[in-house]
Amino acid sequence: MSRDFVYQGTPSRVVFRVGALETLADEVARLGAARALILCTPGKRAWADDVAARLGARAAGIFDQARMHTPIETAEAARAAARDRRADCTVAIGGGSTISLAKAVALATDLPILAVPTTYSGAEMTTIWGLTEGGAKTTGRDPRAMARTVIYDPALTLGLPPAVAGPSGLNALAHCVEALYAPDGNPIVDLLAADGARALAASLPAVVAHPDDIDARSEALYGAWLAGAALGSVAMALHHKLCHVLGGSFGLPHAEVHTVILPQAAAYNCAAASAAMARLARALGVADAADVPAAIYDLAGAVEAKRALRDIGMKESDLDRAAELASADPYANPRPVTRDGIRALLDDAFFGRRPGGEHQLLRERTA
Ligand code: NAD
Repeated sequence: MSRDFVYQGTPSRVVFRVGALETLADEVARLGAARALILCTPGKRAWADDVAARLGARAAGIFDQARMHTPIETAEAARAAARDRRADCTVAIGGGSTISLAKAVALATDLPILAVPTTYSGAEMTTIWGLTEGGAKTTGRDPRAMARTVIYDPALTLGLPPAVAGPSGLNALAHCVEALYAPDGNPIVDLLAADGARALAASLPAVVAHPDDIDARSEALYGAWLAGAALGSVAMALHHKLCHVLGGSFGLPHAEVHTVILPQAAAYNCAAASAAMARLARALGVADAADVPAAIYDLAGAVEAKRALRDIGMKESDLDRAAELASADPYANPRPVTRDGIRALLDDAFFGRRPGGEHQLLRERTA
């Protein structure tokens, strides 16, 4: 089969090493910026103070009110702070919530973003922005939302507790899985996604078992970078749609939903995405592509993450409505998305069944 693809490179500069935060002042200068507004969550003010000290005269101020899903009021307050302080760039130090706030500022002010990610969300590698107004979240893509420079310092992730690191890493793995069967995929993204999956699967159990293992932390953050780059480059499918529905309409926690759904979504798509599953099998170290969904389920177990929707706040009585919502207006997906198919997937996810178990074999035989 001859190749047929479009590849769009992402124009960001990435500095990756233990201790990379030391380069911050040089990297701000390299952006041509002289007045950085530093963004963080309220709990991470100490990081912002440290950044301000490193930047000296190049620090224009700190805005420490970043929160999950970027409420419009928070975005407006950060934009006002940027204008009042005559900032010419933002430095976002923290997880996806903080980086998303920098994106909201960039959309209104054009300020370049220097991101220092401290979780595995991958937000720093995408043009995707999100804003919440009146309880409804709007998302979109805009080149101004792409970080101009990203400093990955694995030392900053040493404090990420295992209970956060595990699901956050599985969230990143989900980007790799869906990138490998994306309708607009390309060879570069395949390389990113496959090595991202390998790095995450190899490192996450060690991150959780030995939180001080800097090599494992480094490999997990490297995997998260690749996962974010894959997420930013191609369209996501059924898994991300389902997680969007479960998070948005039923208030379930973001990374935990990804962790529960990923093995089940992979099982749903397994037979219809054989090339992607073969690559994932190599990445995850399993012999047979059909075992990929179970390997992901086992990885979630190895990082001690919850694997059932009923354990993360879902009500069984809401499964029918979730199936309706997730099968309406579906994203492109390797296997056709049907209401009954999604309902069965949600049943397996609700009870946290291991993919490939007898219930599924029986269902496939009687289908
Ligand atoms: P988060 O940024 O909300 O961080 C969770 C908590 O952990 C915060 O209190 C934070 O201060 C703390 N924290 C962060 N790093 C830490 C560390 N190294 N050690 C100890 N504590 C730390 O969570 P998240 O999962 O990174 O991001 C979720 C948000 O990001 C959601 O709003 C999601 O929609 C968004 N997101 C956006 C994109 C995108 O492309 N735009 C991609 C993924 C996620």
